[in-house]
Amino acid sequence: MEVVHYATDSPCVGNMKCLACERVTPAWQSSGMGESFPHFYCDTCSSVIHREQDKELVDPVEPSQQLLDQIATALPNCPCGGRFRPGANPKCPHCRAEYKHPWSPVQRLTLPHVILLDGACLIRDRLYSYQVSIGSKAKYWLRVVRRALA
Ligand SMILES: [Zn+2]
Ligand SMILES: [Zn+2]
Repeated sequence: MEVVHYATDSPCVGNMKCLACERVTPAWQSSGMGESFPHFYCDTCSSVIHREQDKELVDPVEPSQQLLDQIATALPNCPCGGRFRPGANPKCPHCRAEYKHPWSPVQRLTLPHVILLDGACLIRDRLYSYQVSIGSKAKYWLRVVRRALA
């Protein structure tokens, strides 16, 4: 899997403040323009899946619980061993608390804004999947080497 590097001061990198431990974590946030919906977070780590095959199901209809269930049952497991699940969220790397989202899982079917924390993977079906590395270049190169050996 490719590793994509972002500097902490990159324009698409913002800060997420954890409500539980109040620590701040840099995160890559997609603009709405990428139309990265529907997407689902892993229930164990902070990786995300976004598949064009799911988008084709969501695009022509109104989001519904039935559609969500249909997509959810067809989601694969995350490379970490966890499961991509509706309602899951990215997790604070310091205390593991979730960054909760105010919308329901059905409403989130059309939410285009993806949040990728440092070290999270974006799994895609038609385009290549990648891991984001936010911050130092040394950490990025370490991840590239680890991926090459894996
Ligand atoms: Zn926290
Ligand atoms: Zn995972």
